[in-house]
Amino acid sequence: MMSLRNEKLETTMIHASTRGDYEKRSGAVNVPIYLSSTFHQDQLGEFGPYDYSRSGNPTREALEKTIAELEGGHRGFAFASGMAAISTAFMLLSAGDHIVISEDVYGGTYRFVTEVLPKFGVTHTFINFTDLAAIQQAIQPNTKLIYIETPSNPTLRITDIKGVVTLAKTHDCYTFLDNTFMSPLYQRPLDLGVDVVLHSATKFLSGHNDIIAGLAVVKDPALGERLAFLQNAFGSILGVQDAYTLIQSIKTLGARFTLSTASAEKIAHYLNNHPLIEAVFYPGLPNHPGHEIHAQQATSAGAVLSFRLANRTVAKAFVEAMRIPVFAVSLGGVESILSYPAEMSHAAMPKAEREKRGITDGLLRFSVGLEHVDDLLNDFEQALQAATNVCTTV
Ligand SMILES: *Cc1c(COP(=O)(O)O)cnc(C)c1O
Repeated sequence: MMSLRNEKLETTMIHASTRGDYEKRSGAVNVPIYLSSTFHQDQLGEFGPYDYSRSGNPTREALEKTIAELEGGHRGFAFASGMAAISTAFMLLSAGDHIVISEDVYGGTYRFVTEVLPKFGVTHTFINFTDLAAIQQAIQPNTKLIYIETPSNPTLRITDIKGVVTLAKTHDCYTFLDNTFMSPLYQRPLDLGVDVVLHSATKFLSGHNDIIAGLAVVKDPALGERLAFLQNAFGSILGVQDAYTLIQSIKTLGARFTLSTASAEKIAHYLNNHPLIEAVFYPGLPNHPGHEIHAQQATSAGAVLSFRLANRTVAKAFVEAMRIPVFAVSLGGVESILSYPAEMSHAAMPKAEREKRGITDGLLRFSVGLEHVDDLLNDFEQALQAATNVCTTV
């Protein structure tokens, strides 16, 4: 099957992985799992398309081609985790280079940038990325990378992607963007000039809270060569069984994400009108700072939101009363996930730093799954009632 001109992403998600040679010969509707670490060489001095699975494997390649097509890129790379993808991409830098990075990046990225990269002579400046002027001021002569995550975690702050790309191009820097919260279905950063798109495929792309995986995509062929070299040199590739699982999961991304996003919108509006909720953070709400910029660079607000209750006591009562969601870290699965950033994802951050970022002791994050939205709303209703009772008895 060939791709149609102007094919929609939902169609590409389903067919991209089986547009390779093997499937043409066999007619298989699913990519085979090539459990082969090494590949026979016909003659001395003659190499086939694959030699050793760290440098290339047909199953992994089907996944890498799929994500490259979905992001509108030239080349995709699959890694053992989102952090493996992110840390390998950072290896494009050299000692003496400087990074300007969003102050509310994912915790693992924060850890890598603050505790690993300085050992290799790579320095950084954290900036509030809703402020383009502040980003510009932080650029130094040795700045080689501007690192974006939008919407950010957990308060869904929005960065103006085109604005940052323009700054980066003027100063001859790369831009990387962590697109985990949107997926290519809703946001395609390469189209806006970003150099490297990164994913924790553990989240919406895999969607079933089952595997850990990471992806990177580039548009520039020369940059693709460099990243391919690093993927092979560092070696944190995704195994073929997980590559197969991810290929299958991506086929349903369109259906899953569309439904969970529709539910997220309903839940965000419901929470926005509830007297016990002090604030709702969701880029789809017109009162969300960054709502307009997000609408210009993404086609939807996604399925993660956060909201603020008065304090830890009320938040605790609410969490204990919720029945449907998993109470855990992570997001993007068919099971809704409720989490408490202050003591989960951002536990390592000093309280003052947390509060500066809006991560107060009453903040909860909700990743909307595929349960019926009426059940989720009923669950919120009864849990907020339980939390109200705590408020009135204190
Ligand atoms: C989870 C996550 C990561 C890290 O990915 P892993 O697959 O857990 O290594 C990076 N960025 C964002 C935004 C994430 O949510």
